[in-house]
Amino acid sequence: MSTAAYLHERFIASARQSAQAVAVVEPGKGSITYGELDSLSDRLRDRLTLLGVCRGDRVGIFLRKSVDAVAALLGTLKAGAAYVPVDPGAPAARGAYILHNCAVKVVIVEAALADKLGAELAGLGAMPAMIVVAEERAGGSGLRTALDAADEQAMAPTTLSIHNQPQDLAYILYTSGSTGQPKGVMLSHENAVTFVDWCSETFAPTAADRFSSHAPFHFDLSILDIHVCLKHGATLVLVGEEIGKDAPRLAQLIADERISIWYSAPSILALLAQFGNLARHDYSALRQVLFAGEVFPVKHLRALCELLPKPRYCNLYGPTETNVCTWYEVPLPIPAERSTPYPIGKVCSHLRACVLNEEGATVARGSEGELAISGPGVMQGYWALPEQTARGFFNADDGTAWYRTGDIVSEAEDACYTYLGRRDRMVKRRGYRVELGEIEAGLYRHAKIKEAAVLAFADEQAGVSITAFLSSHEEKRPSLIEIKRFCAENLPLYMIPDRFVWFDSLPKTSTDKIDYQRLKETC
Ligand code: AMP
Repeated sequence: MSTAAYLHERFIASARQSAQAVAVVEPGKGSITYGELDSLSDRLRDRLTLLGVCRGDRVGIFLRKSVDAVAALLGTLKAGAAYVPVDPGAPAARGAYILHNCAVKVVIVEAALADKLGAELAGLGAMPAMIVVAEERAGGSGLRTALDAADEQAMAPTTLSIHNQPQDLAYILYTSGSTGQPKGVMLSHENAVTFVDWCSETFAPTAADRFSSHAPFHFDLSILDIHVCLKHGATLVLVGEEIGKDAPRLAQLIADERISIWYSAPSILALLAQFGNLARHDYSALRQVLFAGEVFPVKHLRALCELLPKPRYCNLYGPTETNVCTWYEVPLPIPAERSTPYPIGKVCSHLRACVLNEEGATVARGSEGELAISGPGVMQGYWALPEQTARGFFNADDGTAWYRTGDIVSEAEDACYTYLGRRDRMVKRRGYRVELGEIEAGLYRHAKIKEAAVLAFADEQAGVSITAFLSSHEEKRPSLIEIKRFCAENLPLYMIPDRFVWFDSLPKTSTDKIDYQRLKETC
């Protein structure tokens, strides 16, 4: 098992050790061995280098989850660049904004999405080179065919994989931004590798493990799935979007693929417990169930643990900016009378945590405050947003930079933290981070919308439901169908409001701001 300082070095070490082992599986479609994945990503590295990609550049990945996408991110790392995974299911305009924002030099894109993305990028004045991959191929043959075609035009000379500075960026993950546009969280090899090593120490994976890859690659949960798995020479089982939310098919897949380490947002585990018919299948291979991203309601967690009592269950907590920073192993069985969620637990061994009041002073143990994190797992900043980066950190007198998570917690006597809520307007929906301000900014782009205010409400089934309160410039308001279509074209699916409520004019406070409190009371 490699302790190298770069993500791709660790993968290369696994490939040297077990070239014949299966690295990635696309259930029902294909798979690739470590040796084949190493050669394919080498070929991509060479092509990227020929296209001018150097150390410190960015490469966009606009592919559905596939062996091609895994090879694409490894090839990017080997070329010394940072990969930028973009949600291929979100509107192309949002993808183009992200790719333009961080000035990618090359985009690796699925054929069906290439024209639309190209047009959106051209509209922004961006012309990165494109490597177009046919999406119906499996086992890496989409990328292999694209590279063969490019080699026929001009052969890419063999180069060497680049290992420069552990502080070089490994990937940029874009999350919802409160000012209306997504913001890029920059993470270095050092950030990623220290997190991956913490996972090795805590979950003790082996080459015999089969990891689920349920989260999309633009979501930070994917870092554990992909990079912990590849470091240990284990097998990564890709779970596609089409199965990802379909509880009965997903339950079958976990059993058939003999997944041993599962990681996802709690919402999908709650669906599995309710609708997965889990009792029908054999889950004897499943030894760890990890979840993160939002609070797991205890009644659903208990139902799951009763159906599957064998695995170890761990609640992992952390924002994209730090990846996992606290964790808690749920003691089983869960008592019938327990209704409060489990704590987010103790700080991970590679990080430090403290709880701050509004002035930035640490509070007494037991008091509420904002959780702040420092250490080698903490991001390098937000791409091209120096002021937001500066606001995100608190600099202590000893020079330590503490990342302010925006999460309100309290620390118990046993050093476990309890999550109490957010300081701002960010909510989690199906595990995705949603800034209500980004939805409002999206709605304001509609020509007929005069005012938009968005609120989230607790929802028994969905966890959180989102309502948009709107007023229009025109007497004839847009129809529900028109507004929903507009949202589908401008916002990712998980940001589309559940309800739209129209007003002639939204209620105002005495300072003439939209009165969110009164809006809340109308529901
Ligand atoms: P993201 O950047 O998408 O990973 O979202 C990070 C935010 O999700 C955190 O700041 C928390 O508000 C929330 N979150 C993450 N993990 C947990 C957890 N285990 N329990 C409760 N909230 C969580």
